[in-house]
Amino acid sequence: MRTAVVTGGASGIGCAVARRLRRDGHAVATIDLTESTDDHGYVADVTDPVAIEAILTHVRVHLGPVTILVNAAGLEGHDRFTDIDFASWQKVIDVNLNGVYHCIQAVLPDMLDEGWGRIVNISSSSTHSGVQRMAHYVAAKSAVNGLTKSLALEYGPHGITVNAVPPGFIDTPMLRKAEQRGVLGGTVEQIVARTPVRRAGRPEDIAAACAFLASEDAGYITGQILGVNGGRNT
Ligand code: NAP
Repeated sequence: MRTAVVTGGASGIGCAVARRLRRDGHAVATIDLTESTDDHGYVADVTDPVAIEAILTHVRVHLGPVTILVNAAGLEGHDRFTDIDFASWQKVIDVNLNGVYHCIQAVLPDMLDEGWGRIVNISSSSTHSGVQRMAHYVAAKSAVNGLTKSLALEYGPHGITVNAVPPGFIDTPMLRKAEQRGVLGGTVEQIVARTPVRRAGRPEDIAAACAFLASEDAGYITGQILGVNGGRNT
């Protein structure tokens, strides 16, 4: 049993990841802007390093050193590039990229002390091809993939693996909000009809990949970008 922190753990993918890691026997704390019903659900903004550090101190005392981190907190944006003012650009980069930076910085000392760690960053299938009107989001998520590869090289010798899971078309509140705003490129049903496996992804599909990457069995897998997308972005 290990101690895991899952950001974005109050909703969608992060929530399913937290549930799955608990089922696998780990002690799990979540960090989210939204309050969760979990015993160890912390409310904080991943862009606030002081708050993240304070939570990590609390988690260490109550659950032990953190050796699994899944970064799932994320913020989408759907705007023409010329309509993305610098404040919106910064906000999307801050949550999706800098938030990952702060959380990894906060947990690495524990992983280095233990000589064992698993970091899984939830990026996005949009990074495979780019997406119109999501330049800020795709830029941030692409940077997360690059960060993943670089940290894998740097921390492999310390027993720490770093991988990314870019989800594609997973049925969560984020996806349904995009559908309601008409920015998905069709309804969920229409997109299902164009998806090779003929269904939308479930948060549990991403949780299964994260659980594997967080396991002992995945110790020789690092620096990888494991697409979980029903075959849409192969
Ligand atoms: P979701 O249901 O909206 O969950 C995301 C959670 O992150 C929400 O609870 C949200 O809180 C929280 N969050 C947002 N900003 C935060 C911040 N600054 N600090 C802490 N928590 C914050 O979305 P999801 O679909 O599960 O997305 C999870 C991850 O997968 C995201 O990184 C997303 O970009 C990525 N992703 C999803 C899909 C998909 O098809 N669903 C595809 C590609 C990538 P609030 O609701 O209060 O904002």
